[in-house]
Amino acid sequence: MILEIRKIGDPILKVRAKKVEKIDEKVKKLINDMIETMKFSNGVGLAAPQVGESLRIIVVDYEEKPMAFINPEILEREGESIEYEGCLSVPGIEVPVKRAQSIVFKAQDINGRVKKYRAKGLFSRVIQHEIDHLDGVLIVDKAVEEPLQVEK
Ligand SMILES: [Zn+2]
Repeated sequence: MILEIRKIGDPILKVRAKKVEKIDEKVKKLINDMIETMKFSNGVGLAAPQVGESLRIIVVDYEEKPMAFINPEILEREGESIEYEGCLSVPGIEVPVKRAQSIVFKAQDINGRVKKYRAKGLFSRVIQHEIDHLDGVLIVDKAVEEPLQVEK
């Protein structure tokens, strides 16, 4: 099911999302719907608050393979880079954001197993962007320069 994407100004985007305590059928359905919504919207990542669920779940399109991360947490950060980012919840602009170049993070998979991941490049940037959503942070909150207007 394709879900409605919440846009900047919606209070749910400013709230710290809650930890997922139990990966039940409802959570699994939400993850499937998030992946469908991300693909439909041509996004590279999506966080649960963006579809109106204040839960610590993100999905990422990694080399055309969708992955879900539950209760993700960054453990290590290395390097720094500034790049323009867009966001499905902040349409029409791209914003330069400073982030770590590579990260180590842990998260639960859909079976509840905790795994550790090393991410660099775009994958690292997308993970950091989506985890920001779980903490109520948007790209406009972290812009290092003026946003760029883009035509979509
Ligand atoms: Zn976003």
